[in-house]
Amino acid sequence: AQRWVLTARPQGEPTPENFRLESAHVPKPGEGEILLGVLYLSLDPYMRGRMSATKSYAAPVELGAVMEGGTVAQVLRSNHPDYRAGEFVLSHSGWQTHAVVTPKQILRRLDPAIAPLSTALGVYGMPGFTAWAGLREIGKPKPGETLVVAAASGAVGSAVGQIARLRGARAVGIAGGTEKCAYLRDELGFDAAIDHRAPDFAEQLKAACANGIDVYFENVGGAVWEAVWPLLNEYARVPVCGLIAHYNDDSYRSGFNGELPVAADRLPALMRSVLTRSLTLRGFIQREFVQHYPEFLREMGDWLHHGQVLYREDIVDGLEHAPEAFIGLLKGRNFGKLLVRVADP
Ligand code: NDP
Repeated sequence: AQRWVLTARPQGEPTPENFRLESAHVPKPGEGEILLGVLYLSLDPYMRGRMSATKSYAAPVELGAVMEGGTVAQVLRSNHPDYRAGEFVLSHSGWQTHAVVTPKQILRRLDPAIAPLSTALGVYGMPGFTAWAGLREIGKPKPGETLVVAAASGAVGSAVGQIARLRGARAVGIAGGTEKCAYLRDELGFDAAIDHRAPDFAEQLKAACANGIDVYFENVGGAVWEAVWPLLNEYARVPVCGLIAHYNDDSYRSGFNGELPVAADRLPALMRSVLTRSLTLRGFIQREFVQHYPEFLREMGDWLHHGQVLYREDIVDGLEHAPEAFIGLLKGRNFGKLLVRVADP
């Protein structure tokens, strides 16, 4: 068995030296326990937060501990009457090839006849649910409105744009590079797609949002937020889902420790726009809406079945490549939901 442990907390961007690959014997399940063999490991932006010790909505990974992560796994041995060898499950087993779990650590059973197993980590799992719930509870796109989303070719953003269109809104996607933008327009049916690395990005965004922006699904922050903010309409809704442009900034985390960063000079202007344009900015962590998960599975399952929501996966082969793939995710090197294929069933 193999596993990646966290060896050092990153300063700025994570580096390969922050991780160590360890080998061990395959663990034996005890009484009532289940041995899982991991098939797919999900790599997600939130993992950058877990690498830092700063207090957040979830506890950090301890130094020397296995990196956290969602996984699709197969039951290899079971000492529990509810699970049989060969079954597929969704679990949170982390960056490793094998894990011993109890039934409480199994999130759900998976049936490959209903949806491909890997989608339980993407469009038909946590990222898809994040998109669906953030729109249902906060964004609330209405027919004819304009929605903007960045990281739009990724796991969350691609679902956000497509769901918004199914609800009758116009979807404008922002992504890094012409290839990702072409994918948004030509394959996913976004109404417009803009490259955030273009020198005239802000002007292009303004031109694509002639009637302003009614819903901005915030995934990135940074320069994208700067360009969006002036275009927000009265009563615009902003589900604040992620701020990936800042995840490698050490100053981004300081606000949680009670030390406010100095560059607060734009705060009054921001607050004035919130007031005078009656904006709703509302942060959320997807698990807050977990009671709606069954409804999500039904609606998204239907859309996937009828080809109304499409998805793209970026699959890296071999657990040994997990750190470099994760480092690339924070820089936009992935194209679609990033997964590591750890083993075949
Ligand atoms: P993605 O598959 O979208 O991958 C991340 C993408 O972010 C990159 O491919 C890159 O795309 C984009 N990106 C990185 N840096 C920048 C930047 N400086 N400016 C603009 N874009 C950038 O990841 P996910 O779909 O998994 O996650 C998207 C967001 O949703 C993240 O912020 C994540 O933290 C958040 N999230 C929040 C949850 C919640 O419960 N609140 C749950 C799940 C995710 P490109 O090449 O297009 O720039």
